[in-house]
Amino acid sequence: MLRWLWVVPALGVALWASGGSLVRYVSDATPPLVELLPAGHGRLTLRINDTSPVHFRTSLVGPTGERVETGTASGRVERTFQIQRAGLVEGRYTLAVQVVDSSWRRNAARTAMGFVVDLTPPRLQVHLPSQLVPGSTLAALITANEAVNAVWAELDQVRYQLVPWEEGYVLLAPIPLSATPGPRQIRLHATDAQGNTGVWEGAVEVVSDSRSVQDITLPPGPAALLAPEAAEARRQESELYNSSLGPVTPRRWQGPFLMPVTTDREISSSFGSRRTINGGPVHFHLGHDIPAPVGTPIVAPAPGLVVLARQVPVRGGLTVLDHGLGLYSAYFHQSALLVQEGQEVAIGQVIGQVGSTGLSTGPHLHWEMTFLEEPVNPLQWVGRLPWE
Ligand SMILES: [Zn+2]
Repeated sequence: MLRWLWVVPALGVALWASGGSLVRYVSDATPPLVELLPAGHGRLTLRINDTSPVHFRTSLVGPTGERVETGTASGRVERTFQIQRAGLVEGRYTLAVQVVDSSWRRNAARTAMGFVVDLTPPRLQVHLPSQLVPGSTLAALITANEAVNAVWAELDQVRYQLVPWEEGYVLLAPIPLSATPGPRQIRLHATDAQGNTGVWEGAVEVVSDSRSVQDITLPPGPAALLAPEAAEARRQESELYNSSLGPVTPRRWQGPFLMPVTTDREISSSFGSRRTINGGPVHFHLGHDIPAPVGTPIVAPAPGLVVLARQVPVRGGLTVLDHGLGLYSAYFHQSALLVQEGQEVAIGQVIGQVGSTGLSTGPHLHWEMTFLEEPVNPLQWVGRLPWE
């Protein structure tokens, strides 16, 4: 009699333990599924799957010894741990999980995984010039003491993505010609694989470029292009030109730029100089003028896509190349255009010939470069890259 009283509740426990089926309780020969998976951003997922409740034992071995935990859980567990926020000290750890189901056979499974707790933010090393003149490309080379992702920069509260370059990253930002002298604040952010973010703060000084105003006298023919009657044609041309410089496409340039024209003549007017034309208002010269005989070949200084190649009233024979990442170069006053819109050109490929078409006082190449729609000095890209 006493024996039977004991068996009935025991059966009840067995039924509960096997998820309601005595048959399963007796016949279950399948070990539980137990997995530890990296879940990215310093997270770890524990997954257990069994038809019956399980007993588990976890062992965490790390720099301060072993921590063991035991308990019971339902047959389906999925938990994600934020390793960085688990209150662990830095170091290497091994987490082992042993799971036993509640069937008659006590089927067991085990898994283990190693991980590193890193609570130290990456340290950034930044190489940048201490000062720049307006119209420069600000270029800073950034390296970190460990692998980083999600790297970005802020310059005067404007956010910039960085360009992966060799072992590090490059911050490229245009300093507009209209920039006022003074410090520009830079903040760099880099996050490591464990989610620690390192911040670097610094500044670059913009100094004034005090060059005298250059007076240009245009002969009557080209000067007519500046007459009020030609205003609409000038506006249309500028709109066409400016709209070609907008899109930011993948990087095409691989290294330093070439000079587009080889000449032994002296540069007639450099980028960023201030000038007046026939006594008119002072404005910046946005290009670099290279005098050369009509017909002198012009080469692509870097790989590019031809986005514009046509004759226009002021700029004359005009070609615009897209070098990617928002960097464009343009060639004015050409006597011959030797490429077509939509064509990819290689570094050193002849794209046209020097001329004096449009608003020009004599045969020369006016070479312009814009970065993120701001005119920048093309010479900063010739022979070496701006951060080298
Ligand atoms: Zn010019």
